[in-house]
Amino acid sequence: MSRTVETARGPVRSDALGKVLIHEHVFLMDMEYTFNYRADFFEEKTITEAADRLNELKAAGIDTIIDLTVLGLGRHIPTLAKAAALTDLNIVVSTGAYTFSDVPAPFQFYGPGLLKHAEPEPMIAHFVGDITQGIAGTGIKAGMLKCAIDAPGLTRGVERVMRAVARANRETGTPITVHTAPLQHTGRDVQRVLGEEGVDLEHVVIGHCGDSAEIDYLVELADKGSILGMDRFGIDFAISMEQRVATIAELVRRGYAGQLTLSHDCCAWSDFFPAVADYHATMPNHNYLHIHNDVIPALREAGVSDGDLDRMFIDNPRRLFEVG
Ligand SMILES: [Zn+2]
Repeated sequence: MSRTVETARGPVRSDALGKVLIHEHVFLMDMEYTFNYRADFFEEKTITEAADRLNELKAAGIDTIIDLTVLGLGRHIPTLAKAAALTDLNIVVSTGAYTFSDVPAPFQFYGPGLLKHAEPEPMIAHFVGDITQGIAGTGIKAGMLKCAIDAPGLTRGVERVMRAVARANRETGTPITVHTAPLQHTGRDVQRVLGEEGVDLEHVVIGHCGDSAEIDYLVELADKGSILGMDRFGIDFAISMEQRVATIAELVRRGYAGQLTLSHDCCAWSDFFPAVADYHATMPNHNYLHIHNDVIPALREAGVSDGDLDRMFIDNPRRLFEVG
């Protein structure tokens, strides 16, 4: 059944999302660093160049991206809205927090049993408010929840954020994407903790599964119902494009096309390199068009059909917004 999905330019129907890249960013930064050291971010061309890249993506046949920039990754919705106004691409924005260890500083003393006691967990109200009321007075509502669990595993901070995200999912019906570390198999912790909170695991994207070629692990996660994010195309230093493609082809051969989604996890502007030109020069395949230009032809070559591609780009993302 079609549902409403919120985007940076207002609601769209889930059956009108079209082709979706499930895990991307537009502006990705350490906001404190950028505000102190990267005056170039505040130049007009940061917005217009981002819009140009988004328009190229739309022209290449993608209709929607999920922007997974949350607390800890430099989310600034007023800036994003300026870029969104210059493109017809749908941009679904996210709420949640990205941490590998501690909670964001504003919550270290504020919460259940802490110096400033608050019950329930105050992060839940932030996340739910972003989904139901809009973010920071912009009126733009989040359409996706996000948290992370990396190599350090389920630290206290990571677990606290994850359980808050789970509660917000239960309250609002908004799907969840989790950054995971597949080499440490942290997707298992995600499914256990979210399962304990009563989250439908079909409402969950286990992000960064594409960094693994360990089929048994990926099948184990998929068999519990979650969507796998094969979502870092262009990050070639982690694992080659050929390996990423071969893993997807094998999963499709085994009947899992209905649980795979593809993306780059790239951005238009980042402070992760000294200048934005350095980012694009250092990681030349890490751009919005890599899947269109290189990955889809390679998948076809590996035996993935157009029907399978439609499931991965259209049906699976759509279903994520229609669960429950
Ligand atoms: Zn990401």
